[in-house]
Amino acid sequence: MSKPQAILVINAGSSSIKTKLYAADDLRVLDGQKIEITDEAGYDKAFADILDQMKRYDIVGVGHRVVHGGRDFNAPQVITPEVLEALEALVPLAPLHQPHNIRPVEQIARAYPNVPQVACFDTSFHRTMPRLNEIYAIPRALTDEGMIKYGFHGLSYEYISSVLPEVADETAAKGRVIVAHLGNGASMCAMKDGKSVATSMGFTPLDGLMMGTRSGSIDPGLPLHLIEQKGMAPGQVSKIFQKESGLKGVSGISSDMRVLLQSSDPAAKEAVDLFCLQAARQAASLVVDLGGLDALVFTAGIGENAPEIREKICAHLAHLGVNTESAPNSKNETAIHAPGSKVPVYVIPTDEGLMIARHTKALVLDKTPAPVVTPSRKL
Ligand code: ADP
Repeated sequence: MSKPQAILVINAGSSSIKTKLYAADDLRVLDGQKIEITDEAGYDKAFADILDQMKRYDIVGVGHRVVHGGRDFNAPQVITPEVLEALEALVPLAPLHQPHNIRPVEQIARAYPNVPQVACFDTSFHRTMPRLNEIYAIPRALTDEGMIKYGFHGLSYEYISSVLPEVADETAAKGRVIVAHLGNGASMCAMKDGKSVATSMGFTPLDGLMMGTRSGSIDPGLPLHLIEQKGMAPGQVSKIFQKESGLKGVSGISSDMRVLLQSSDPAAKEAVDLFCLQAARQAASLVVDLGGLDALVFTAGIGENAPEIREKICAHLAHLGVNTESAPNSKNETAIHAPGSKVPVYVIPTDEGLMIARHTKALVLDKTPAPVVTPSRKL
């Protein structure tokens, strides 16, 4: 019996590798696994598992989630030696993630040199942002060096943008939409006609909303104070804002929204309230970029599953005409706005893996023309 043709999607992070296999013809999910990694030996074992999994299928292409595509990669790329070199050159922009994303690319290239691999970037979707939404008020020389807002969660936003026309009417789907991706990492994207015009994450995924353990936007004087006045080492400061802040830092209990929602501790309530207020503020500020609002979409772990959080965020936005209805909201239904709400509000589960599978299929099987990579725009 011949093996089923499949596309393998790999999302490799620092603490786990997630794989999913999709049928090459209709992209239905055939198989998948999440392997936790605790050490180097754990990584080798995880990779051996992936190779075993690959043997059971006729792999026609491998799609990788790659966090950083820099300024130039505004679309997924078939990985050639030149592309791989470019991905490596981007490591300094995402030192915590990019090396983990690249490692399986190299290993699969050695084990299966003839299987095409595709890099799908978290940053690409935002390359449609206008220049004013890409630059910081810092010296021009630093901007020219690449210290700009790249934005992240692009594969999630691209997926939502692709399914929105099935869910919302045309005015909303083609109009001014804010998508709130609220998971362990959290960000928002303002879209017009399905394309990103502004986003809350910036040069790194630390910017914007408060998250599970990340601080989100803070006074840039704060890390300076810790270094200059309190004598902390950069590594300590990084740990504070990356791993010990956000929901975990404010609550002192957990980074997990479920735990906080169940807790009666006032510090847990404060963390949840701050999360909702910051999310609403971010959404309101994105309304400026859009010049109005035709739809609000919630997605990812918290956005898809936490009615209390959606309700609180929307209550802060009621003056903009955003009103939820408690019955559909409490059941995580697709449309959760009240009948009189000026702005429709939706809950749409995201699927970054499927987005990667679609791109990989398009590039390796359907042979869509290679996407045009715009040369670095002069900033
Ligand atoms: P990641 O960014 O790691 O992919 P997820 O999108 O899975 O994260 O989101 C994880 C977050 O979603 C956690 O804070 C978790 O508590 C929250 N979450 C998941 N299910 C629920 C739920 N039923 N109610 C509230 N929060 C939830």
